[in-house]
Amino acid sequence: MRIDIVSIFPEYFAPLEVSLLGKARRNGLLDVHLHDLREWAHDRHRTVDDTPYGGGPGMVMKPEPWGEALDTLAPAGGEVPRLVVPTPSGRPFTQALATRYAAEPRLLFACGRYEGIDSRVVEEARTRMPVDEVSLGDFVLAGGEVAVLVMVEAVGRLLPGVLGNADSVADDSFAPGAMESLLEGPVYTKPPVWRERPIPDILLSGHHGAIARWRRDEALRRTARNRPELLARLDPDALDAHDRKVLAEAGFPVRGEDMAH
Ligand code: SAM
Repeated sequence: MRIDIVSIFPEYFAPLEVSLLGKARRNGLLDVHLHDLREWAHDRHRTVDDTPYGGGPGMVMKPEPWGEALDTLAPAGGEVPRLVVPTPSGRPFTQALATRYAAEPRLLFACGRYEGIDSRVVEEARTRMPVDEVSLGDFVLAGGEVAVLVMVEAVGRLLPGVLGNADSVADDSFAPGAMESLLEGPVYTKPPVWRERPIPDILLSGHHGAIARWRRDEALRRTARNRPELLARLDPDALDAHDRKVLAEAGFPVRGEDMAH
C-alpha cells in the first residue's frame, strides 16, 4: 500500500520508522511518502494560513497550497488515491473503517492545523477522488498529525504480512465478525502466579472450547462494564443462551429481539 501524508510538520512522523510499521516499510509492505505542505507555498514566508472570512479567532489553512499539493499527488490520469482528512467534525474512525482502508491501494492524508483547511479544498477534491473527513473522537487535537499517525498504525497492522500472527487481528476488540461490537477480554502470560495473583484456572485446562467460551464471557462482561452502548449493536440472533445469561448477570438482560438496559 502507498500512503502519502501532507503536513506542515513532516518530522512529526518519525514514529513510523520504528517497531511494526518501520519493519513493514523496510520490508516493502508499506510505502510511506511524507510531504511538507510549504513546498506548495510560494511567497517569501511560505505562508499556508490566513485570517478567517466572517471573523473569529485563529487562522485557516489557505486553499492554494493544498490545491497544488493534491494536483501533484493525485494527478489527472494517475492512480486515484482516497483522500482522508482528519477533522473533529468528520465521521468516526473505527476498526471497520481501518479494515476498509487496508484494502485500498493508495491513501492520501491531509493534516490540518490552526482552525482547519479552507472548506473549498475538500469540496473541489471530491470532484476527482473519493474523500473522507474522519474524526478520531469527540475531542480536539492541535493538528491532524497525531490523528494520521493513529490511522496509519491501525491500517498498517491490518496489511497482509505486517503482523507476525495474523490470527491476533481476528481476536481484537471491534474485529469484524464475532468481536465487531465487543471489547477483548483480559489477557495473561507467564508466570502463572504473580504477586499472589494466579491466572484463571481455565487458561491452563487445555480445553480449547471452554477457553473460547470463557474469553467470550469476559468480552461480554467487559463490554457491559466499559462500553454498554456497544451491546445494542449485537445481533440478538448471534447470541446463544450462555451469552444471554452472562449479559443478564451483568445487568443487561436480552428480551426477545431487544437489548433492555
Ligand atoms: N476548529 C476546528 C473544530 O472545532 O472543528 C478544530 C481544528 S483543530 C485545532 C486543528 C486540526 O487538528 C484539525 O484540522 C484536524 O486536522 C485535527 N484534529 C483535531 N481534532 C481532531 C479529531 N478529533 N479527529 C481528527 N482530527 C482532529
